[in-house]
Amino acid sequence: MVQRAGERKSGKPRVHVITMGCAKNTVDSEKLLAQLRINRIPIASTIDEADVAVINTCGFIDAAKEESIDMIIAGVKRKGQGRLRKVIAMGCLTERYRVDLEKEIPEVDRFFGTHQLGDVLEELGGHLRSELLGERYLTTPSHTAYLKISEGCDHPCSFCAIPLMRGTHVSRQPEDILEEARTLARGGVKELIVIGQDTTFYGMDLWGERRLASLLESLAGIAGIEWIRLMYAYPAHFPLDVLDVMVRHPNICRYLDIPVQHASDTVLKSMRRGMTTRALRELVATIRAKVPGIALRTTLIVGYPDEGEKEFAELLEFVRESRFERLGVFTYSLEEGTTAHPLGDPVSREEKERRRAAVMEVQREIAEDLNDALVGARVRVLIDRLEGDSWYGRTAADAPEIDNEVIIPAEGAELAPGTFSDIGIVDAYEYDLLGRVSV
Ligand code: SF4
Repeated sequence: MVQRAGERKSGKPRVHVITMGCAKNTVDSEKLLAQLRINRIPIASTIDEADVAVINTCGFIDAAKEESIDMIIAGVKRKGQGRLRKVIAMGCLTERYRVDLEKEIPEVDRFFGTHQLGDVLEELGGHLRSELLGERYLTTPSHTAYLKISEGCDHPCSFCAIPLMRGTHVSRQPEDILEEARTLARGGVKELIVIGQDTTFYGMDLWGERRLASLLESLAGIAGIEWIRLMYAYPAHFPLDVLDVMVRHPNICRYLDIPVQHASDTVLKSMRRGMTTRALRELVATIRAKVPGIALRTTLIVGYPDEGEKEFAELLEFVRESRFERLGVFTYSLEEGTTAHPLGDPVSREEKERRRAAVMEVQREIAEDLNDALVGARVRVLIDRLEGDSWYGRTAADAPEIDNEVIIPAEGAELAPGTFSDIGIVDAYEYDLLGRVSV
């Protein structure tokens, strides 16, 4: 067995953490990494340097589950070759399928669920320092960070297995959230991306009322934070006071991620979304009226069991009419333990793919239109990185990893990651924009 640098010195194994899935998993991994640092357990930035691999898995839908299982299998293969001493799997997939996984992949040393940070640390020779749970070891660029304000979900969406993995909704205490945000700001973070399973439900368990608006108000007061971005807003019972706070504070992006999932009454009812198509239309109109220039992002599911041609046509019409600035589409994934499971999976994979492509074709035209309208304008861009001969950045209408980018040829452009710059838009692609500093 190869003795690795740092192991000899601390006698502790070098740990590499691999994060699968969503931004909520990213935060969990960053908290684990921060606790490793606090426990003086060496962190390996690549798997090649590591003695132990911790795979923070995702169990959301088929594709994500497959990716996580592939990563676990790759890990145990490395172990079999003597290139790793231990493989640990944690997170959503193991929370949901631990018994099966223990049987099917016995080479994995330990399996942990979604609420076992302390146990993972024990396994790695450390102890949970709960008083330091606000500490983060960022894996995102240092100027942007996710801020998880709650865990779990109380909604009954028929297709969704997340409550099976993450449990019921638990809001974090506001002072803990604010302290974490201040620490991130002191560390150079400029953009806070507010996340949860449903961020609008914040406070319901603590005070019996939605307190997202007042939390955002407090976050807006933190020195150094220039952008606050709100993600994962549930449409039903959407707290409109959030929009007033958004308008009042220039450092809260006029951006809202609000997954509607579908827009046919029949499907919305079967999905148990607590919304009608009419209410969705009214909500979109109200948001646009109250926050002029807001960029709305949404997510849709196509191929749900009760989605026939008529229901799909209603969805397409809603997409055409609502002109979301940003939109993503998932194909329906049959999930055990969900209330939709007994409906089976009658829509074929090919038909799901055809519908997903049809929605994205409508959205591509909308995106192109919206981008064309920006040619000639100057927009404020947060610079993320230099890649090849171009800088890449984002406007306030773009979340990292999932939305559009502004591409700026590097030649003659004095830019730096984590800085804001006014960029002249000279051309538009389907989704991305081409800009120049000097125009
Ligand atoms: S709001 Fe619905 S879709 Fe989102 S995590 Fe909760 S149950 Fe799942």
